[in-house]
Order: sequence, then structure tokens, then C-alpha cells
Amino acid sequence: MRIVLVYGNDKAQAWRDTLAAQLRDARVDIWQPGFNEPADYAVGWAPPPRFFVDQPQLRAFFSIGAGVEHVLNNPSLPPGLPIVRVEDAGMGEQMVDYCRFEVLRWMQRRDEYAAQQTAGIWRQLSESLRDEWPVGIFGLGVLGRQVANAFAADGFPVNAFSRSNTTSEPKVRLFTEANGADQFDAFMRATRVLMILAPLTAATQDRFDRKALQLLPRGAYVINVARGGLIVDEALLELLDDGHLNGAALDVFRQEPLPPPHRYWTHPKVHMTPHTAAVTPMRPAAKQIAEKIKQYAANQTVSGIVDRSRGY
Ligand code: NAP
Repeated sequence: MRIVLVYGNDKAQAWRDTLAAQLRDARVDIWQPGFNEPADYAVGWAPPPRFFVDQPQLRAFFSIGAGVEHVLNNPSLPPGLPIVRVEDAGMGEQMVDYCRFEVLRWMQRRDEYAAQQTAGIWRQLSESLRDEWPVGIFGLGVLGRQVANAFAADGFPVNAFSRSNTTSEPKVRLFTEANGADQFDAFMRATRVLMILAPLTAATQDRFDRKALQLLPRGAYVINVARGGLIVDEALLELLDDGHLNGAALDVFRQEPLPPPHRYWTHPKVHMTPHTAAVTPMRPAAKQIAEKIKQYAANQTVSGIVDRSRGY
């Protein structure tokens, strides 16, 4: 079996070695410009535009990550080629920590206390309890489900929104697009901290425009750990500026790295991180990918195959 790893990242060699250790019968090569030896499977992230022209015999592409738009938007991707994504592999607990940290920072008014410390002010601000902080998770998939359960276990009221899924978790109030157009509005109105955890698809692109974000109650917060394209940046900034929204924690952006003149960099209500909310942990992810390749090669059922028609 021959595998090509396409990963323009300084961790490519470590990934190759970890994959090769899991797939002892396979030859694993790192793709470089000009490489066109035929491989059976490709593993990687954001393959170059002509990648699939040079690899016409591939049987499947395995994404090093939960998101797959970096492959789906490749112009040479053949229509029928199966794409398989990483599921969890340790990313869920990172998402939980990221969201928990931001919610507690706002709930405990830590930014305000930091400003008071800088100004030499000793003043106790009014406190609030968890039941005053209903959270809303948009996208109740592999990662969103873990975030929802963690907040529910912590005692927060938890709302969740999914496209078609009707199976909820105990203690999670589920809103589903399939149950009617009013479900989205009701979900947003019931939510004080919106956490975006759905993939970027044709249906979710620009989903959080001014009209949608205004449905959140006054003083609400937004966490985006999915993809930048789900939020209309101008709308978010306007609502932060006019006081409708109190804060945003953003890990993902339409353009990454975010260009320096962008207002997010200096906005006092914005917390930014450079797409690190859940970094694919190499060892468990490589193990999972190797397992999926073995299952695929043996014609067994493989989980995490992307439905190309819905885009995730
Ligand atoms: P997943 O298991 O595929 O779950 C996706 C969820 O989104 C599902 O609940 C799905 O609904 C819902 N959804 C899809 N389209 C929707 C729509 N139009 N309206 C409402 N809900 C919709 O994906 P995952 O593994 O949890 O990952 C979620 C996303 O997180 C990834 O796609 C990626 O973009 C992002 N991510 C970011 C980082 C980071 O470091 N920032 C790391 C990993 C992943 P159904 O249940 O009805 O199918």
C-alpha cells in the first residue's frame, strides 16, 4: 500500500513517521512539488490545486482534522472520491476547555477586574450564577455534543441547535432546523453565550449576519470555534460597538492569519486566538487515520466519511 502525506507544515516529517509506525506494510511519502508517484491513499490538509490531477488513482483522502472544506474547495477534486475526516481524537476536550474558559472569564467579570487592577481600583462588582448564563451550541456533532454535556454537567442551562439530528442529550434543550424555521430564532433568543461549532458549508456560510445575531438577547456573547465564514464580521462589530453584544471570543477568521489592520485585533470586547481552540493531536489522530485506512482497504465500514452533498 502506498500513502502520500500532503501537509505543508513543519510537522510533516513527524506525521509521516507516526503514520508509518502505525501502517508497517505501507510506504508513506511526503508530497512535494513535482511528486507524482501514484499512491493509494492521501492523508493531509489543504492539498495544492492540482494535487488530484497528479494522483488520479487515489482511493480516498483522509483529512488531518475535523473540518474538510480545505479539500472540498480543491478545484481538481474528483466528484466521487471519498473524503474521511478525523473524529474527536482529543479535540473535544480542548473545545470544552476553550469554551469553559471564555464563559467563566465573562461570568466572573475578569476583564473588568483586570482593568480595575491597572487603574488601581478596589471595587466589588455584582456577581451572577450559572443559571443566569444559558449557553447555546450551534452544531451538536462530535465536538458540540461534548461541549453541551460539559456545560450541562457544570449546571448551566444548555440549548443546542442542529440541522437534522433529533437525538438530544439529557439536560440539553434541542432545537432542530428540520422541526421548523422558527426553531433557529427560538434557539438564539434563549441563548446568552452562543458557541458556534458547525462546519462551514453552503448552508452555514454567513449564517450569523446582523439579523441573526440581533436575535441574541441584549448583552449576549459569541464564541466562534468553527470557521470564520459563518459570521458576517461587519455585523458582529456593529453589534459589539452599539452595545447589543458584550463580547466575542474568536478562534477562526475568514482570512488566516488575520491581517493586521482588521478591527478585531484591537477591539476591547474581542478575545482572539490563532485557530488553536482544538489542535489535532498527532498521535491519537494518526492512529485513528491508520485504523480507518486499514478498514477501508479491507472493505469494512469506516466512520467519518463526508457526505459531499451536504458538505460535512
Ligand atoms: P460534526 O460531527 O460533523 O458535527 C457538525 C454539527 O453541525 C452537526 O450537529 C450538524 O447537524 C450541524 N450542522 C451542520 N450543518 C448545519 C446547518 N446548516 N445548520 C445547523 N446545524 C448544522 O463536526 P465536528 O467534528 O463536531 O466539528 C465541527 C466543526 O468544528 C468542524 O467542521 C470544524 O470546522 C470546526 N473545528 C474547529 C477547530 C478549531 O481549532 N477551531 C478544530 C476542530 C474542528 P446534524 O447533527 O443534523 O448533522
